[in-house]
Parts: sequence; C-alpha cells; structure tokens
Amino acid sequence: MSEQKPHASGGVEPGDTTKRVGMEIIRERGGDPEAIREKLIDAIAAEFSTYYYYTNLRMHLAGNEDYKEITEDARLEDRAHFELVAPRVYELDGKIPVDIGEFMYRASCPHAELPEDPTAENILEVLLEAERCAIRTWSAVVDMTRDCDPRTFDMAQRILQEEIDHEAWFVELLSMERDGEVNPAGHFVRGEPGDAPLSTNNRFNESA
Ligand code: ZN
Ligand code: FE
Repeated sequence: MSEQKPHASGGVEPGDTTKRVGMEIIRERGGDPEAIREKLIDAIAAEFSTYYYYTNLRMHLAGNEDYKEITEDARLEDRAHFELVAPRVYELDGKIPVDIGEFMYRASCPHAELPEDPTAENILEVLLEAERCAIRTWSAVVDMTRDCDPRTFDMAQRILQEEIDHEAWFVELLSMERDGEVNPAGHFVRGEPGDAPLSTNNRFNESA
C-alpha cells in the first residue's frame, strides 16, 4: 500500500467536531460558507412560504381543475425544495430559526398572498411572479457556489430547473386566461402530483 495519503489530514485537527472540512474546503476555494448558508435559509424560507400560500391559491382556483392541478405540482415541488436544502443548512453549521415567524420574515421572496379580487387571472399572476422570484433566488445561489461548493451548486441548479418549468406553466396558463393567447410551456403536469423529478431528497425512514 502506498505511503502517500495526500488527503489523510488537512487544516482541521483529527477529531475536532467544532470545524467541518466540508466548510473549510469551500473557503479554500474562495467561497464564503456562512454567506451561502444564510442565503440558503432565506431561500428555503421562501420555498416554505410558497408551499403554504399556494395551498390557498390552489383552493381558490376551484372550477379550473387544470389550473389547480398545475398549482398543486408547483406547491409540492416547492416543499420538496425546502426539504432538499434544509439538511444543507445544518451541514454548513447553521440552523433554521426556532420561531416560524422569524423564518417567514427572512423569506427572500414576497408571500404569494391571495389577491383581493381572487379571479383566476389574478391568482395566476401571483403564481407567475412567485416563480420568477424563485428563479432569481436560485440563480443567485448557483452563481455563489459554482466554483467553490459543488454540493450546494448541484442542489440549486436542480431546483432552478424545476422553477423554470414552473414559470413556463404559469406563462402558458396566464397567457390563455388573460389574453386568449397560446403560449405553450412545452410540457404539462408531472407523472405524480409534485413529482419533483430533480429535487426529491432521500426520505427519512422510507421503507419502500
Ligand atoms: Zn421552489
Ligand atoms: Fe416554484
């Protein structure tokens, strides 16, 4: 066996649990793991908020069953995004706020509240703008992590792909509902509601 084990030790002392090589390596590459972590908390607060608010938006689309179905996919996938990234906050030595009020205050996107006049058109516009904020958010995370943090980068780019799907769905639906225009997304509902084909994380204690 070779005597040379170049990765056997580094800047973190053996047995030291106050530091993480998974964070120090980001720093060595020029990244800021604490800044990434705090950005992630804001981003997943927005995902959790969206999951909550879309519940109400979806219910108010009664009678537009196709809109409801698409909104349900987007809603469940945003929950999947929260679930995917929450463990990453802990890996980066952080924690989500104890108080959900504080967590929601930190959300990096406006809450997707039911519009005062809850027509399908108005609801679809709220949905569309929420997706656009998510695209901007995850694009910023992708940019922060591209060269220094492949694990967060991988999560963020997978989420980003789904958010771009979501935008396309609501562009299509709002175009028809408001303007009578055909503006295809090029794709439709997921196979299973909220499939999250790219962002589903490992389930806790899943037996199957
Ligand atoms: Zn999302
Ligand atoms: Fe989304």
